[in-house]
Order: sequence, then structure tokens, then C-alpha cells
Amino acid sequence: MIVIKFGGTSVMDAKQMRRAIEIVADRRESRPVVIVSALAGVTNQLVDAARLAAGGDFDQAQALVSSIQQRHEAIGFELIGQKTDFLESFLALLRKHTSQISDILRGIALVGEVSLRANDKIVAIGEKLSSVLFSYTMRMKTLTGVHIDSENVIVTDDRFGEASPLMDQTRTNARALLTPEIERRHIPVMGGFFGRSRSGATTTLGRGGSDYTAAIVGAAGGAEEIQIWTDVDGMMTCDPRLVPEARPIGEISYREAAELAWFGAKVLHPKTIAPAVDAGIPIRVLNTRNPSAPGTRITAEGSSGKGPRALALKRGIAVVHVTSNQMLGAHGFLARIFEVFARHEVSVDLVTTSEISVSVTIDRTDRIDALRNDLASFSNVEIERDQAIIALVGRDVIGQRSIGARAIESLEEIPISMLSIGSSGLNFSIVLPESSAEEALRRMHAGIFEEARAL
Ligand code: ASP
Ligand code: MG
Repeated sequence: MIVIKFGGTSVMDAKQMRRAIEIVADRRESRPVVIVSALAGVTNQLVDAARLAAGGDFDQAQALVSSIQQRHEAIGFELIGQKTDFLESFLALLRKHTSQISDILRGIALVGEVSLRANDKIVAIGEKLSSVLFSYTMRMKTLTGVHIDSENVIVTDDRFGEASPLMDQTRTNARALLTPEIERRHIPVMGGFFGRSRSGATTTLGRGGSDYTAAIVGAAGGAEEIQIWTDVDGMMTCDPRLVPEARPIGEISYREAAELAWFGAKVLHPKTIAPAVDAGIPIRVLNTRNPSAPGTRITAEGSSGKGPRALALKRGIAVVHVTSNQMLGAHGFLARIFEVFARHEVSVDLVTTSEISVSVTIDRTDRIDALRNDLASFSNVEIERDQAIIALVGRDVIGQRSIGARAIESLEEIPISMLSIGSSGLNFSIVLPESSAEEALRRMHAGIFEEARAL
């Protein structure tokens, strides 16, 4: 069995949906289970609808719901064809879901506020509709799609808006509901992003949670591979909006991918792929608009190759330099400094120390004045704001053929405020002024990835 998951842009309109269905048809021999996100933009519209209803504007909220319904119907008309019984049953199912949203929105408008629980019930409808639509339109390729309600498979705790799966029960459900269909050569289609708590309430797994569903279903069903189909050629060596020369990464380890995600790489959130990694299932990120591209394979081990994988940028950083003569030969000084950060609940990302100074980066700059006051009572404090971190991520990145030297060399005269090499060897980070960060990123990418194709 394999899991094929389509993101919102891969099912956003009839043209994309047709491509997605072709991708499934080409892989039917691998016994796929399909997971779909809501059509691009729908989840945000549902969030808006709930907010409008809570503000007493039921009519506007209802108008959004109608436009969502029309969008799904239009794709259905185009791909299923007009006037068949099949189309009728599709429309009836769509309407059942949209009228349910309207009821809930009416309730929200009466109460004047939207609870997390009600919000989950509303936003989950995006995936309910897209999965119904997908399973019906698969007919156009004579695929036997069966719609499976994710609430009957994914069991979660009851942290609304950010629920976590309960894997034992989920595994049991997956075996009971998915396996028999797969054995009959049917193709189960499920909505991503939502499940049901043990007490029976609809829950969601957090924004972007359809990837999480794919990993959960893959792990529960013992998939050979989980394919995440999106609108880029995989994870890239750099954000292509900042560095047009960025290119796809062929293979990456889970830990390298997690490291990149911390820096805001949007493609996959590490939490969402954890179930697949725990189960040792490889994940492949692929492009619906370019299906023959190899994409990026993410595995527990990563490729055997060491060296640089990607560059990531994080802005809005402050560097706090703490200096004190008292540090010379003293013990407990670092503890004292970090106690101040802990007390202000500011997490420290990068740290470098010398005999008499410590420099740290923080990304919460709202507490800076309070931090400065407390630190200044026993040391000299200097703060550099408007900094950025550029991280070079890869296994044993620094041990590889003078990569570190090349990274720094490529910066030429751009000043650096701090350098840090992660002990895991996965990350070499340079802190520099935000104003030079994009230029630095382009130069480093050129120096490391573009000249180093043979690495
Ligand atoms: N539709 C949900 C969201 O927009 C989940 C997803 O797309 O993965 O957050
Ligand atoms: Mg997504």
C-alpha cells in the first residue's frame, strides 16, 4: 500500500484535480490510499465564516459557504458530467455537509462566540467536501474511489485545533476500514486534517494537518511509501523566491528536514511526519504540476552522502552579548545568565561562549528591555537587533571539504555578528544584519551549491 496525499493547490480547480486523478491512476498497481486537503483557500474562508458569524454577520458567513459549495459543484459538473444519478448523489452529499455548516454558523451567531470545538467542526468541512468531490470525480478515470470518513479512522485526543492521534485505536480502525477496500482493489479517499476524539467530537490536527493525516494513515496501514504531492519540485536548497538558482534536494534525512523546518522551510512540518519516521516509512515530496520530476525523498537515515543540503534564513533575530570579568575562572556564571532567560520565558537558539563572554540569539524581541535590565545587574550587556540567521544544514556539514571556509569566504565584506556550529554537526549558522541577509544568502548559495555540483 502507498499513501498519496494532495495539498490544496493540487486540487484547487478542475484542471489540477484532473492531473491529481491521473497521478492516482498511474499508481493504481501500488494500492493507493488517497488523502486530500481542502481546495486551496477554503480552510481560510471557513475560519473567516466562523469569525463573521461570531461577530453577528450570519449573512456574510453564509455567502462564503455558498461560494464554497458552488466551487465544488462546478468542478463536479466539469469532471463528472451533467445529469447522471451519480452526479445527483454527489450533489446531495455536498449539500448535506454545507447545510451542516450553516446550522453551526447560525448557532455561533446566536451565542456570539466560536469555541475551539465549534471551530474544528466548521473547518473540517473543507476536507469533507474535497474528499467527497475527489472520490466521485475519480470515476472519470474509471477508478473505484470509495469515500472513507476520516472521523471513523483517525482517533485523537480532545485538544481542539491541535489534536494528536491515538495510534493504537487509529491502527485498528485503519485495518478494519481501509484494508478490506484495498484488497478489493478499491481506492479509499479520505479528507486530511481532521479526526474524532474518543468522546465523539470532530477534531483537527493543526493548520497544514493533512500531511499529518498522510503520515498517520501510512504508519497505521504499514505503507511502503508516503507521497506528498504539492506545487513545488520538492524541498529546495534554498527558498527560490530569494535565490532563483535554488534546486531540489534529492534525498534528505528526517533530522535535516526537521532542522530546516525550524528555520521556516514551509514544505513539511517535522511533527507531521513523525509517525512515518517512527514507522520507518520513506516520504517523498512531489510536484503535481511536474509529476515526472524525482522530488525529494525523506528517510530516517537520509542519503549516505554527507555535506550541505540546504540554506535557510530566519529573520527578526536579536543577539544578546553578555560580558563580565567575573566569568574568568568562575563557575555557575552561565547558569546565572540562562536563569534570566528562563525567568522571562525567552528561548535561546544559538549560543557561543568565550572565557569572558556569552552571545546568544533570541527570536522573541518583546522582552528585550526586561532581559537587559536583569542581565545588566551583574554583567555588561550589548544587544544587536534586526539580525538574521543563515543556517547551512547538512550532515557533518563542517567536516566536508572546507565548506565552512567557503561559506564565510563567499560573504566577502558582509559583517558577521556571530557564528555557531551545532554539536550534532547538522547545522552551521551565521548571524548577520538582516539588511544584508538576502545578499549573503545568494552569495553563499552560489559559493556552496552552484560551484560545488560535484560535491
Ligand atoms: N486545509 C488545512 C489547512 O489549510 C489542512 C491542510 O491543508 O493541510 O490548514
Ligand atoms: Mg498544506
